[in-house]
Amino acid sequence: MAHKARKRFGQNFLQDHNIINQLLSSLNLSSEQHWVEIGPGLGALTRPLLAENIALDVIELDRDLAKHLRDTFSQSENLTIHQADALSFDFAQVLQSPPQKSHIIGNLPYNISTPLLFHLISFANQIDDMHFMLQKEVVDRICATPGTKKYGRLSVMLQYHCEAENLFDVPPESFNPVPKVMSAIVKLTPHSQPPVTVEDYSDFNTVVTHAFSQRRKTIRNALKKILAEEHFQSLNIDPSLRAEEISLHDYAGLSNILSTIKQ
Ligand code: SAM
Repeated sequence: MAHKARKRFGQNFLQDHNIINQLLSSLNLSSEQHWVEIGPGLGALTRPLLAENIALDVIELDRDLAKHLRDTFSQSENLTIHQADALSFDFAQVLQSPPQKSHIIGNLPYNISTPLLFHLISFANQIDDMHFMLQKEVVDRICATPGTKKYGRLSVMLQYHCEAENLFDVPPESFNPVPKVMSAIVKLTPHSQPPVTVEDYSDFNTVVTHAFSQRRKTIRNALKKILAEEHFQSLNIDPSLRAEEISLHDYAGLSNILSTIKQ
């Protein structure tokens, strides 16, 4: 089909078969699995996934592409096509329930990748793992460790929910049209138990958001409206550190103090 790529839908279609094969071989596919693909586009990943005999649900926003997929894969009984916006899609409808969790994959439209990751996290108990193609910059931020420039709100919040692994880089020429930036594949595996205890998730979110909204300030100043000097001392956290130097463990500790003093 002659399809003109739509910029507003973040359409950059994968065309490099080496990259597609490298990605597929990192998935540990087997026929009894259920997969969900977000943004299947022209089917560059859909076709080889279906060849593995897995059950597959795909979610595509573009009506023309959804129709094209229906025509192309009309013989595939194990494929269900949803023409919908993944950002508001109720994934609980299609994801399997524990112990048979589902797998998610997507070469994601870059403009919606962060809100989509947070949306998906709300279904984490039904997800075995997620493989995403994202801007390399975003993958580096997701996987960053404390004390590095890229460490930020996205690193802390996603690492609370998932183990994050940067699998490999993908150069711009692997796509049509060619994007301006480098891409990378990230594997996110939801933790069966969170690595730290958080009493109240909304307090945790508040602390992390406040801390990184003023990342050049010391943590004492960035959080002064919600926490006092003694709270840092009680956790042995140096209040003159900056947000990017505080670990997930310490953010959880600070948020638990906030939950206690609010009561
Ligand atoms: N998977 C294909 C590939 O690798 O060639 C296409 C990838 S392209 C980067 C992103 C795809 O996501 C496009 O097909 C686009 O139409 C679709 N898309 C964009 N926004 C979406 C949304 N909110 N929900 C679902 N699909 C979306």
